[in-house]
Amino acid sequence: MMEKKDIKSLTLTELKAEMAALGEKPFRAVQLYEWMHKKLARGYEEMSNIPAAMKAKCGESYQYTALHVAAVQKSAIDGTKKYLFALPDGNMVESVWMRYKHGNSVCISSQVGCRMGCRFCASTLDGLVRNLTPSEMLDQIYAITLETGERVSNVVVMGSGEPLDNYDNLLRFITLLTDENGLHISQRNVTVSTCGIVPVMRELAEEKLQITLALSLHAATDEKRRELMPIANQFSLAELMDCCAYYFEQTGRRITFEYSLVRDVNDTRKDAETLAALIKGMNCHVNLIPVNPVRERAYVQSGRQAVEAFAVFLAKKGINATVRREMGRDIDGACGQLRRRFLENAESAFADGAG
Ligand code: SAH
Repeated sequence: MMEKKDIKSLTLTELKAEMAALGEKPFRAVQLYEWMHKKLARGYEEMSNIPAAMKAKCGESYQYTALHVAAVQKSAIDGTKKYLFALPDGNMVESVWMRYKHGNSVCISSQVGCRMGCRFCASTLDGLVRNLTPSEMLDQIYAITLETGERVSNVVVMGSGEPLDNYDNLLRFITLLTDENGLHISQRNVTVSTCGIVPVMRELAEEKLQITLALSLHAATDEKRRELMPIANQFSLAELMDCCAYYFEQTGRRITFEYSLVRDVNDTRKDAETLAALIKGMNCHVNLIPVNPVRERAYVQSGRQAVEAFAVFLAKKGINATVRREMGRDIDGACGQLRRRFLENAESAFADGAG
């Protein structure tokens, strides 16, 4: 049997064509699209101005994504909320909601699990399970908007998964998210973070979107980067830096380099010097993140002083650097940790239950 089309992943133009094929008028497609992407309906039953017969037809012809909130944790320190969502097939993904002065930000996952294998990351420990569909990415934002009752103004694709390993769905997600007939989030308020898949970064550059690209650098020599990130075996830093320059050339958007500080691994003065030399003269911003310790990994967070010294050193070299505020420290902060905890608990419960 053919899988049913996913109605929330269709653009308005596509939806109009689909509705025409079902014998419906174009304005019905507009109404339907508004219900899904503006009013954030959880199902057809909420769509009060759509005729019952049309809803029934849609129900038969398409699948309608709706995530189920499996758990919410709220930080007592800063109000950050972490959501664990159950997907229709029983898989789980997590998202984070953060309140900043300039608006609410949501960090979404792009895949269930991840196959990139970064050593310090919890999301990749069990490998990739599957890609998320565009509607499953959108729905993390929609469900959180409904739950908080507040508008989301910034979206970062920095949760579990490698977005450029799910490229077509990512592009479609950005199209729908920034569409004026939907939530209409500005491209400038969308950030996509990648471990650095060079050919796909080049393709993305050619789309000339006004989103921010964040590159997970984490080390300034090939040797060190290979120890932390297997992807560094495929692409050298020289190739990566060329690619970042190309991205800036194509889009005019300055790159953000993410650099997670790991004690005694990449946080020394020598590391700061090497990093400064590597990115000197580039139009960029460096985000320093004290690594979030993952239980399964031995990496230790750099001390406050080391982080401070690192930032000051870069600033002195004229490099724009900030230390990322750690949000939600008290609620399984690092990527993939909440899902892991949940799966572990579920497994032990199962083992107990089944004897
Ligand atoms: N796959 C993408 C996006 C998801 S990870 C990427 O690699 O960029 C989002 C960011 O969190 C990346 O910079 C990643 O390297 C970083 N990260 C993952 N685990 C971390 C941890 N335990 N502590 C600090 N940063 C971490």
